[in-house]
Amino acid sequence: MKRKLLASLVGMALITGSSAFAAGVTDAMIEKDAQSVGDVLSWGMGQQGQRYTPLDKINAGNISKLVPAWSFSFGGEKQRGQESQPLIHNGKMFVTGSYSRIYALDTKTGKKLWKYEHRLPEGIMPCCDVINRGAALFDNLVIFATLDAQLVALDQNTGNVVWKEKIDDYAAGYSASAAPLIAKGLLLTGVSGGEFGVIGRVEARDPKTGKMVWTRPVVEGHMGYKYEGGKAIENGISGTTNKTWPGDLWKSGGATTWLGGTYDPTTGLAYFGTGNPAPWNSHLRPGDNLFSTATVAVDVSTGKIVWHYQKTPNDGWDYDGVNEFITFDMDGKRMGASADRNGFFYVIDAKNGKLNGAFPFVSKITWATGIDLKTGRPNYDPANRPGDPTKGPDGKKGNVVFSAPSFLGGKNQQPMAYSPKTGLFYVPANEWGMEIWNEPVTYKKGAAYLGAGFTIKPLHEDYIGAMRAIDPKTGKIVWENKNAAPLWGGVMTTASDLVFYGTPEGFLKAVDAKNGKELWKFQTGSGVVAPPISWEEGGEQYIAVVSGWGGAVPLWGGEVAKKVSMLEQGGSVWVFKLVK
Ligand code: CA
Ligand code: CA
Repeated sequence: MKRKLLASLVGMALITGSSAFAAGVTDAMIEKDAQSVGDVLSWGMGQQGQRYTPLDKINAGNISKLVPAWSFSFGGEKQRGQESQPLIHNGKMFVTGSYSRIYALDTKTGKKLWKYEHRLPEGIMPCCDVINRGAALFDNLVIFATLDAQLVALDQNTGNVVWKEKIDDYAAGYSASAAPLIAKGLLLTGVSGGEFGVIGRVEARDPKTGKMVWTRPVVEGHMGYKYEGGKAIENGISGTTNKTWPGDLWKSGGATTWLGGTYDPTTGLAYFGTGNPAPWNSHLRPGDNLFSTATVAVDVSTGKIVWHYQKTPNDGWDYDGVNEFITFDMDGKRMGASADRNGFFYVIDAKNGKLNGAFPFVSKITWATGIDLKTGRPNYDPANRPGDPTKGPDGKKGNVVFSAPSFLGGKNQQPMAYSPKTGLFYVPANEWGMEIWNEPVTYKKGAAYLGAGFTIKPLHEDYIGAMRAIDPKTGKIVWENKNAAPLWGGVMTTASDLVFYGTPEGFLKAVDAKNGKELWKFQTGSGVVAPPISWEEGGEQYIAVVSGWGGAVPLWGGEVAKKVSMLEQGGSVWVFKLVK
């Protein structure tokens, strides 16, 4: 009798996912993450990265009653940029902080359950602040990447390290800050370091042990490998050596997968964006320089590239094509959209990579006059490519051009959201340009490998950021909300037609998904450069966002950095619910 009761209790716990007997996170749970409102198991609130919650308890009618439930400080003297998206499972929030820290917090009270601070060596080389974007959950583990290019898996309950694996050599410029992606039971990660001539790639590991399953370089010419019994087996060269790269340049070709990826179970493909080809000086590397500045679709089962779509062939502006590729249904087809640093919003067939549409989503694009829908290639304006330094007056500096967008991009790391209800994408865009010029450069391990100089400038007096609702069928901007500082935080949308996003000025805002009208805002005490999430617990809907100003803008923003120098640093997570 007793045994039967226990068995039925366990059965119930498995069905409801209640905390008393909660099972570990499974691949099936992760595939349903976008629909399951009681948890947030993945970066993107689902593998497709739509950042849409089916919850509608918080809506335009009651949002004035949305108040803080608790807040937690990351503490210490370490602040800087906080770009992390929290995860929610089993009554716990897992949230990463700057300097490769991670915290487990009680979702109801904000009580700290444990903290892990990764010991970082001297000499790490993160290009764009000491940020981290979040973790992955699998079984009883929480897994995140560190600034010294390692992966650390911790026990969700204790914070004890279960496994640790080195991705690559931080002294060569490798680092890692993206949230890992779980797909088909594998842990998929990328690398950062495109400004140091490292080699971009996608890697799959066993999430329970950290052992490598396959690795796929995304610089044309490099060999991929799969691993059996700890042995590396050749798994085909990516592309064809020297087809799109001259000489030895592919050996330090960049194309880093620094923002991580998304996955679509209906295609079996993982979509990773790739950064700039290295160095920035494009005159040194005539050719398309595959697979840089592209969306690369990798078959998760085989580790092979199924298709790629390159957005800025022979990039000369650091238009990293890393922006998240969000799959969605359009006219009965599975499409994917990404809002690129280069200023165009692309809609691409998720199965075969065929271009469906390409629309400007910023007011000024100088480098191309448009995208040819037949060939999928940009129509370049040759006069707007920064000049060849060897042709300059002293051989040391090429022609200076004013390019828009700036390399910080029409959109950068801040993830957009898609609402299947409104059919619109919500894109945190920025309006800026740059003076850019090329200089001679040679590769040296662990040294910046740019061959370019730049100054970023605002395009408008009164704003840089613009939250834009974009119709993926027409490219029409349905509404926009301007923001004085550049938008650097992600977006979330809800079944109740709300759009949540944060601003560097410190506000978390909720606006009407149909017209952008501001309905609510809350001052978090520092700039928000992270994406919000939502979940349900005890019948109540919660909203959370991390606050802490920093990231690439204050470091690289030139004249824009001066405009935002009054913003204060921080480091905390805020949780909101409706007051009763
Ligand atoms: Ca979920
Ligand atoms: Ca870059």
